[in-house]
Amino acid sequence: MATNTDILIVGGGVIGLTSAYFLARSGCSVIVLEQSADPGRQASWAGAGIIPPGNPERVTSATEKLRAFSVSEIPSFSETLRELTGIDNGYRRCGGIEIFTPEEAEIIPSIWRREGIAFEELNACSLGDIEPELMVPNGSCNRRSESPVSEQSFRTFRLPGMGQIRNPWHIRAMIRACELVGVRIIRNHPVTDVVSDGDQIEHVRAADRSWTAEKYLFTAGAWTNRLLQEVGHSLPIFPVRGQMVLFKSDTRLFSSVVIIGKRYLVPREDGHVLVGSTEEPEVGFELGNTESEVESLKTFAFEWFPTLQSTPIVKCWSGLRPGSQDGFPYLGQLPTVRNGYVAAGHFRAGLQLSVGTGILMNELLMGHIPSIDLSPFRPDRSPIAVQMMAFRS
Ligand SMILES: Cc1cc2nc3c(=O)[nH]c(=O)nc-3n(C[C@H](O)[C@H](O)[C@H](O)COP(=O)(O)OP(=O)(O)OC[C@H]3O[C@@H](n4cnc5c(N)ncnc54)[C@H](O)[C@@H]3O)c2cc1C
Repeated sequence: MATNTDILIVGGGVIGLTSAYFLARSGCSVIVLEQSADPGRQASWAGAGIIPPGNPERVTSATEKLRAFSVSEIPSFSETLRELTGIDNGYRRCGGIEIFTPEEAEIIPSIWRREGIAFEELNACSLGDIEPELMVPNGSCNRRSESPVSEQSFRTFRLPGMGQIRNPWHIRAMIRACELVGVRIIRNHPVTDVVSDGDQIEHVRAADRSWTAEKYLFTAGAWTNRLLQEVGHSLPIFPVRGQMVLFKSDTRLFSSVVIIGKRYLVPREDGHVLVGSTEEPEVGFELGNTESEVESLKTFAFEWFPTLQSTPIVKCWSGLRPGSQDGFPYLGQLPTVRNGYVAAGHFRAGLQLSVGTGILMNELLMGHIPSIDLSPFRPDRSPIAVQMMAFRS
C-alpha cells in the first residue's frame, strides 16, 4: 500500500529539514525520507557553520541576493527555534577576520562596501589588540619574529557582522522543530527508485514501499544527481570531501572566525577550535581523514595560532559537500517534471543558505511568488559566472 502526503522530501539534511519545517508551517502534510538512522549527519553535521554578513537592501547580483536574504533571516530564525524547541543552535554574532592577499584586498572589500557591509581594515597593532593570539604580519606591533608573512604580503579586515552556528546543535533543533510542527521524518529509508508517468512523478520506492505525494522535493545533498537520473535528469552535483580538525583548549584562545583563502579557524565558546578545510572532489563519495591533509590543516593552524601547538586535537572528521559546476545551488522545478523540485548543490554555503532555501522552497511549492527571483538558480541553467565572491565560506 502506498503512503500518501502533500509533500515528500527526499534527504533529511539541513536543506530538507528546513524546507520541511516551513512547508509544514504552511499547513502541508510533509514526509522526509532519510536514508540513514541520523538525519542531518552528513555534510550538514560536518560543516563549520560560518555565517557571513549580508545586506539584502543593497545587493545586486542573484548570488549575493540569495546569501543576503538567507543570512539576514538567521538571527530571528535561531530565536524562533530556541523558543519552539528549547534548543540553542549556537548562533553567535562573533565577528570575523579575513586575511587577504593584496589582489583579493583590492577587490573583495569594495564588494562589501557596495553592499553596505560593515568592515574595517586592521593594522598589526589593532589586530594584536583584538586577537592577541593570532600571529600578525611583521610590523612594529609584531610580537613574534618567526612570523611567516611580511607586512606587505597580507591585509587584514574585521567584519563585526560575521557569525557562526554550531552545526550539531542546529540540526538537533531543526529535527525537534520539524517534529513539533508535524513533519514525519522517516529514518533508515533510502529512496531507491523514482517512478514517473509522462511528466509526473507517480511515486518513489523506499524500504520496499511506495510513497506518493502531490509534490516531491529532492534535497539529497551530494547524492541528489543519482536520484534525479531516475527521472531522466542529470544535474552536475557531485561530492567534494572536506576534512576538519578539532582542537580543545581549556580557555578560549580567540573569539573571531578567522578566514585565510579557503581555510579557516572557528573558535567555539567552550574552547573548541575547528580548523578546516580541504576540497577533495577526486575522492568521490569516500569519507575519512588522511594523514597528509590532517597535517596540512595542523600546519595551517599553527602558522596563524602558534599557541595551538600545545593544544590537544580531540577529533578529526570529514563531510561531503554537495558541489556544483559553479558552486551555487540548483533551486526550482525540474524542467520536464511537473511535480518534481530540487534544492541541492549548496557546496560550501549550505548552512548559511539553509533558512533562505527553506523559505523559498516553501513559497515555490505553495505556488507563491518567491521572495527573490529563483530563475538564475533553475536546474537547467548554465553555470553562473562570478569573478570574485564576497565570501568563500
Ligand atoms: C567540511 C565542511 C565545512 C563546511 N562549512 C560550511 C560553513 O562554514 N558554512 C556553510 O554555510 N556551509 C558549510 N559547509 C557546507 C554545508 O555543510 C553543505 O552545503 C550543506 O550541509 C548541504 O546540506 P544538504 O542538506 O544539501 O546535504 P546533506 O547534509 O549531505 O544532506 C543530504 C541528506 O540526504 C540523505 N540522502 C542521500 N541520498 C538519499 C536517498 N536516496 N534517500 C534518502 N535520503 C538520502 C543523506 O543521508 C543526507 O542526510 C561545509 C561542508 C563541509 C563538508
